[in-house]
Amino acid sequence: MSPENKSFPKIGVASCCDGEFNRPAVELIIGMLHKVGIDTSTNPTEADAIIVNTCAFLVNGETRTGGILNEIRQNMKPDTRIYAIGCLIAKYGKTKVEELLPDISAPFGNHAEAAIVRKIAKDFNVNIPIDIELSFRDREVTYPREYSYLPISDGCNEKCTYCSLPQYRGKYRSRPLTEIKEELEILTKQKVKEVALAGLETTGYGQDLSDKSSIIDVLKMVHKNPKIKKIILALAHPKGFTDELLETISTMPKLKIIEIPFQHINNRILEAMGRETTKEQIISLLQRIKTLRPDILLTTTFIVGFPGETQEEYNELIDFLNQGFFNGGFGAFAYSPEANTKAATLPNQLSWETKLQRWEYIKERFPINGKSMLNPVDKDTTLKERVHTKILTKLRPDGDLLPGLHKIMRRKDLMLDTMNNVEGVDERMILDQIVNDVNKHPELIGEGAKVIRKNFTSDYIQELTEETNHWLNNESFSSNEREYLVILKKILVN
Ligand code: SF4
Repeated sequence: MSPENKSFPKIGVASCCDGEFNRPAVELIIGMLHKVGIDTSTNPTEADAIIVNTCAFLVNGETRTGGILNEIRQNMKPDTRIYAIGCLIAKYGKTKVEELLPDISAPFGNHAEAAIVRKIAKDFNVNIPIDIELSFRDREVTYPREYSYLPISDGCNEKCTYCSLPQYRGKYRSRPLTEIKEELEILTKQKVKEVALAGLETTGYGQDLSDKSSIIDVLKMVHKNPKIKKIILALAHPKGFTDELLETISTMPKLKIIEIPFQHINNRILEAMGRETTKEQIISLLQRIKTLRPDILLTTTFIVGFPGETQEEYNELIDFLNQGFFNGGFGAFAYSPEANTKAATLPNQLSWETKLQRWEYIKERFPINGKSMLNPVDKDTTLKERVHTKILTKLRPDGDLLPGLHKIMRRKDLMLDTMNNVEGVDERMILDQIVNDVNKHPELIGEGAKVIRKNFTSDYIQELTEETNHWLNNESFSSNEREYLVILKKILVN
């Protein structure tokens, strides 16, 4: 740090979600700020500027961004400046965002990590090297430190008719394998043991590379690293599962979770969505994975209420979910029309009430698997209304274990049943679920404690108790996060 920077005010860095791009981008910004001698803080009440990394995936991402902005506005000092980067800005453009959200300074779009650091340095008269550039080598892993995303590509060449992400993330760009390997080593030096291979569409890795490397090469390289204990293959397009990839998966015990977004199961809807897969192919793929690796956790996402979705087509999706393939949970989104997408121009757009009703049913019917990704306050509203919507959400970029309390509020009669039926479900989901249930019905605390003792080793419980105590004593959290921790602690010591 240069001497003149010592009194430099603190910068907060927040992310609207823990997404595969957002979290690494936030960690990169934190690393770059530290590199030029600027302090960061996770406490909005002491930050003089806060950088918000925004999301724009369907109405959900925008609403989450609104929640974060509101949390920040409520907790920050009156003169704190907010800077925004990320997909929401790229999607709507700087002019529109500044017009609608005048309290946000200098919004930047994607890939603006270096630009935002330069801008802040300029605004606060801090001397930093004029030629500061973006480098993955500067990335600093945030909590929980053992888990991290490893971006392998950006952009997408697919033509899903509901999706606007390729418009503002661009064409498919694979990172060179050597660069991914180097970043993996940087992460493991920071104690990372679990990595999620991330990209908008990971099985397409290598399609733009002349050396013909593929997702198989990435998996093999990561699997070989002795410090890595768990691998997650995120956002894998179903059509990318070749025989060779499936064979590779069968030989990789460290690959524990695969996320394959299917989006629907009805053939007419899949075709209208441009997914280039059929129901028959999806079921065959799932059966093959289950046969090859019965231990693996499968997760997915679905969109309900796509234009023209009939009740029968929706019922077909429910029947499919009832088959229980997704032991790692799944996310359900209510369709929202995106500008400049084909699906937005299709006839028979469903009412918000119908979409919400279909989404609500899934949330109720599949409480532990139906990981909530949509807040019922969402509406077909303007951007301004969306980003001002008040929802409870997490503020800290490092709050992976602290998801707030808004996630799933379930009926009590379903809780005991699912609490005792969590075999094969990811441990973070189990904890989230139990804390959410006990928050809603404190009398379930004993049941929650039993489930924890049944599913976790005593060493793990001990470690978690110590970490929870540490966080409660040493870290500053929003009131929701603190509430989460307090409940967790009560359950752990019960
Ligand atoms: S695969 Fe489809 S849904 Fe995913 S980013 Fe590409 S276009 Fe969007």
